[in-house]
Amino acid sequence: MLLFNIVVTGFFRVLAIIDYYLEKVVGVFFKKKWKIAGSCKKDGRCCRDIGIIAEKWIINNKYLLKLVTWWYTKVHPFYFKYYVENEDALIFGCTKLNDNGSCSIYKKRPPICRKYPVVNYFKKPVLFEGCGFKAEMNS
Ligand code: SF4
Repeated sequence: MLLFNIVVTGFFRVLAIIDYYLEKVVGVFFKKKWKIAGSCKKDGRCCRDIGIIAEKWIINNKYLLKLVTWWYTKVHPFYFKYYVENEDALIFGCTKLNDNGSCSIYKKRPPICRKYPVVNYFKKPVLFEGCGFKAEMNS
């Protein structure tokens, strides 16, 4: 069972890394509406409450909810904290966050951490209050 867990989580970790680099390649060809300016304050505010948006139909299905939770707690080093109903957000904490806000696995941090602040193709990026980054329109 342990070997199975290692193989499965390893497989999904590799998928997440491939996804991260594929998105970088796509970004070379398609310009996004928004870009990120500023810099990280390195105080760990984005690691304390990691918000994962999940549609209501996923939240309401116990198997899908288990799958999402498994993904973020086994493939990622997170633990479930709480659910914010009006924002459809599952909030996770991270086991790798040091007390001073630094990351204990910074060089090996998961792709989701490397992607923050996330810039998708159309929506304005959502940033934590007080974050050193800011969203600007691409010219
Ligand atoms: S792995 Fe590191 S960067 Fe990612 S949430 Fe945890 S402490 Fe933050």
